[in-house]
Amino acid sequence: MTHPASTSSSADGAPSRRVVVIGEEPVPPPPPFAAGATDSGPARPPLPAGDPATLGEPAARVVLKPRRAQPFHFRHPWVFDGAVQRIEAAGDFTTGSVADLVTDSGEWVARGLLHADANLKLRLYSWDQERPLDRGLFAERIASAASLRTRLFGAPTATDARRELFSEADGLTGLTVDRYGEYLTVQFTAGPLAAHQETVLDLLEAQFSPKGIFIRTEKGMGEAEAIHLTDGVVRGEAPPEGFAVEENGLSWGVDLAAGQKTGLYLDQRDNRRAAADLVAAATPGAKVLDLFCYSGGFGLTMLARGGATSVRGVDASESALGLAVMNAARHGSADACTWTNGKAFEVLDAMKASGERFDAVVCDPPKMTRTRKSVENALRGYHQLNASCLELLNPGGVLVTCCCSGLISREKFGQMLAGVAARVGRPLRILENRGAAPDHPTAPQVPESEYLKCLLCVAD
Ligand code: SAH
Repeated sequence: MTHPASTSSSADGAPSRRVVVIGEEPVPPPPPFAAGATDSGPARPPLPAGDPATLGEPAARVVLKPRRAQPFHFRHPWVFDGAVQRIEAAGDFTTGSVADLVTDSGEWVARGLLHADANLKLRLYSWDQERPLDRGLFAERIASAASLRTRLFGAPTATDARRELFSEADGLTGLTVDRYGEYLTVQFTAGPLAAHQETVLDLLEAQFSPKGIFIRTEKGMGEAEAIHLTDGVVRGEAPPEGFAVEENGLSWGVDLAAGQKTGLYLDQRDNRRAAADLVAAATPGAKVLDLFCYSGGFGLTMLARGGATSVRGVDASESALGLAVMNAARHGSADACTWTNGKAFEVLDAMKASGERFDAVVCDPPKMTRTRKSVENALRGYHQLNASCLELLNPGGVLVTCCCSGLISREKFGQMLAGVAARVGRPLRILENRGAAPDHPTAPQVPESEYLKCLLCVAD
């Protein structure tokens, strides 16, 4: 949807800006696969047109209401409708158009991309007034994110799985890029950035030289941000049948086209290993319940690292359990596993009724709230779930409890757990209060980016 100019020209009182046309900025050269990221290099030829909005010179000014600028001075990148007094534009603007953010007295704050229709009006990408918002800036951010991963994990191999770029924390709100060996999955979580899809994909190809790129859209995100992308392979080819990656020394089959998240829950990589090592130390020979098991990540790691002797995996998704069965076979653990397709609350009730007990319970539910309004309701859900898990746990057992709802703070989650321990009468000792793996960094100015809590506990 294109919006006509709403009020006076943005030139009125606006500071002078450099005009930059797409394609004129130097971007890093495509490195050979597995060579890691580079930070600079010769210019590439201009890109073919294809995106609806243009980058470069701002098309509009977003004027804040009085006293609403502080979060943006602190570099929070989300400007909601409620903070906006008016939008000024000399000509048309559309979702994806570049806009400057200014205070009500006209002071320049930051530069971002507009959403013409969503509540989240402006996504901010630059706090340097001299720096145009163009493909050169995107290329730099992508290269910087990739370079950090290379320093953290080394040059990627054909079986590595890691998050190469994570939205706000890597300076590109609305873009998440995961690597599965020589393939990438890309999630657009911002309509204005999705409007520049072709540019972003070109830059990712230039940076990573992948064999294929998949688009995956997170549930609920398409509607919230009015993103109309079709999931699937958008560049190159799909991986071959039986494609697998490595994590914690084990091989995991992934389905990039239909698997959940972008294929694997990469954020839990280190937590799976830490939880498995805790089980091996605290409850060796454990009988494990892996609730919300997806492709078997926690339970199978516990079997492989010697802590568990049996795993009961529960998930509501049949295709997830298909992956779990396959992974168990890959690891030679099939005989130690039982997989139950069902809803967690119902399965827990049945287990409680039948007197079944476990030495370790993993509880890793999907996000339970996406809005502030439903946080209290979600906390009740977490309470009920964790209470049932505790009731199924043998004395001295290990509880691994997770929460991936960004709107529920670590403090609130801890309070919920204290309530559960008191109600069930099972004092808990928290041994490790963990977050996501380091390829999923968080941004201090965006508390919502610290979404994953994974607490390793022992229950009396
Ligand atoms: N622990 C997993 C990731 C879990 S993601 C790992 O380490 O990879 C959450 C999982 O919960 C998904 O696989 C989803 O299919 C499952 N799920 C969603 N709702 C559910 C429900 N009501 N009962 C059981 N499983 C559910």
